[in-house]
Amino acid sequence: MRSHRGALVCRTFTVRFSHPQADVLVPGGAAPEAALRSVTHLCVAAHADDIEIMAQSGISDCIDTPGKAFGGVVVTDGAGSPRSGPYTSYTDERMIATRREEQRAAARIGGYAIQVQLAHPSADVKASGHPGVAADLAALFAGCAPEVVFLHNPADKHDTHVAVLMRCLEAIRLLPAGRRPARVLGCEVWRDLDWLADADKVALDSGRHPDLAKKLLKAFDSQIAGGKRYDLAAVGRRSANATFNASHATDGASGITWAVDLTPVTRAGGPSIETFVASLVGRFGSDVALRLARFA
Ligand SMILES: [Zn+2]
Repeated sequence: MRSHRGALVCRTFTVRFSHPQADVLVPGGAAPEAALRSVTHLCVAAHADDIEIMAQSGISDCIDTPGKAFGGVVVTDGAGSPRSGPYTSYTDERMIATRREEQRAAARIGGYAIQVQLAHPSADVKASGHPGVAADLAALFAGCAPEVVFLHNPADKHDTHVAVLMRCLEAIRLLPAGRRPARVLGCEVWRDLDWLADADKVALDSGRHPDLAKKLLKAFDSQIAGGKRYDLAAVGRRSANATFNASHATDGASGITWAVDLTPVTRAGGPSIETFVASLVGRFGSDVALRLARFA
């Protein structure tokens, strides 16, 4: 039944996504292709709940600014997710369905223009050159012209997060130069970005709409029920980032999500992601070494 519904939904979409369980939700009821075209803030993440951890600032921007629209894309099916508490006995199939419904609920709560769940097994995303993954991401990026794209950051320690980032960068680089997103940011989830040299940090104001933020994170009960309190941890990290941002300044935002600007990697003649990250790590090392040397 689930694959039937996914196929039906996709038939209304000019883009046919490759996996039969791909799911498209347009909370406002517009035609999917029009909803995608309207997206100004796009987040492409690995799993259900990553969007709500990494892109609260984008969701808030779209709520606060007329004419802005948020789009969420979850690339994997969540089959391998851990389960505990009331979810202990869930089969992979039931877990996939549960996580999909949780993501749909979050999209409604957050007023997203569109929520796409591509339902790819994690192994397919990790396989460089998987034709279905590549085709789906190419279609999504070609179907909108976002001013900012939120992706996973290249120093994340979750393999699937990094694989999704790499597939997204490949898709963006295949777009004609004039069709590439104006700004591409890598956001913290599994590993924060506080270690970046200050000049390399982008501060995303994730302290707005705190009640909404809590509701969005709590939508993922299957991930929280076993005691992994992502809802508390994500909000706590935002608060800590804001407080520890500058030792001599009062806090401007009540919550900050750190990001790194990946736009140069998406431009013709830009550095490879490997070279780009090596330079970030190098600048961090220099920052630490110089401070130590000052007081030696
Ligand atoms: Zn994730």
